[in-house]
Order: sequence, then C-alpha cells, then structure tokens
Amino acid sequence: MTGAKKRSRSLVPGLVKGMATTARTMTRPAHTHQYPDVKPDLPPRSRGVIALLAENCTSCMLCARECPDWCIYIDSHKETIPAGPEGGRDRQQNSLDRFAIDFSLCMYCGICIEMCPFDALFWSPEFEYAETDIRDLLHEKERLGEWMPTVPPPPALDAGAPEPGEIAAASKPARTPRPRPAAAGTDQPAAGDGADS
Ligand code: SF4
Ligand code: SF4
Repeated sequence: MTGAKKRSRSLVPGLVKGMATTARTMTRPAHTHQYPDVKPDLPPRSRGVIALLAENCTSCMLCARECPDWCIYIDSHKETIPAGPEGGRDRQQNSLDRFAIDFSLCMYCGICIEMCPFDALFWSPEFEYAETDIRDLLHEKERLGEWMPTVPPPPALDAGAPEPGEIAAASKPARTPRPRPAAAGTDQPAAGDGADS
C-alpha cells in the first residue's frame, strides 16, 4: 500500500468524527449572549461600579488609606459650625471638596466599601461605563453620586434575626428638653442649664 493511500484511510475516521461533533454542537443551545443586543442577567449584588452617597461621607480617609491601588482621591476642608442659640461651643466639621475613584486602576476588591464606617460607599451592578479615553474612567463625586439610584436595596434579614441597632435607634422617640430649674431668688431659669439629657 502506498503512503498516499494510507494517509487518506486515516483521514476518513477523523473527518467523520469532526462532522459528528459539528452536527452535535449545532443542535445545542448557544452559551454566548448576543451582547449588547441581549443584556446579561446579572446577580443583583454584582460588583459593577462604586456609588457614593456624599452626604454620609465625613472625609475620614479610611477608604483611601486602605485602598490597595491608591485610586481614591479625597480633598476636604474644615468648616466651623456655630454654637446653637442655647449655648455650647462652635464645632469643626469636614466638608468634602473632592471624592474621585479611578476605575482604570480599581481592582474591584471592595475593601473601600467594607471599611467605610458611615455607609457612604455601595456596589452598583451597573457595568456599562467603558470609555475610549482611559482618563474618563476617573469618576468624580458627582458621577459617583449618579450611580446611587442603581444600588439595589439591602437583602432582607434572616428570619428571627435581631433588629439592627440603627433601626432601633431611629424608631426611638425624640428627646424632650427637661424644664430648667429656676435660679435661686428669681423666676428665671438658671443660666447655662440647658442640657436635655
Ligand atoms: S474596590 Fe478596592 S481597588 Fe477599587 S477603589 Fe475600592 S479599595 Fe480601591
Ligand atoms: S471611609 Fe467612608 S466616610 Fe470615610 S472618606 Fe471614605 S467614603 Fe468617606
């Protein structure tokens, strides 16, 4: 038997096998999605983008310090809150000037969200923010805030779980100021006795 004949005989079973695999695969449903025509059905807690609730941010810098990629940028300044009409002292408070996340560096580890003690950062499942210019992946606080409506509500508590402390605190009745004791020899309340605890 010549070499050419031998080769053609060994090709035939391979060809038949290949055709059989093709025929089998053609009858199976496709595993690919025709994105962007068909949107993927992602789990609600997917890590798409980070949303910022700027009102909750105290500029404590914890998230920026713990970010392994150093891709969170925060600027703030101190503001003086004047004392109330009933006395007390002026207070100092941080005011957020800039909060930005560079998503070209972020590795979506979620450490910043875990670290935030004031519930200012959240995962949103939105992922369609690809850019043709990498510099546009730097989201400033206004853009981070625009993701907030896409943040899913927290999952329901397990049956029998204790009520979270925040809910118990929020449902307490407001404190009413105690009546001030009259100063000795006058009908006027004692000066500086405005505590309502
Ligand atoms: S998810 Fe991780 S890498 Fe991204 S900003 Fe937060 S801490 Fe940094
Ligand atoms: S940890 Fe939270 S409160 Fe502190 S700077 Fe970051 S986002 Fe703001």
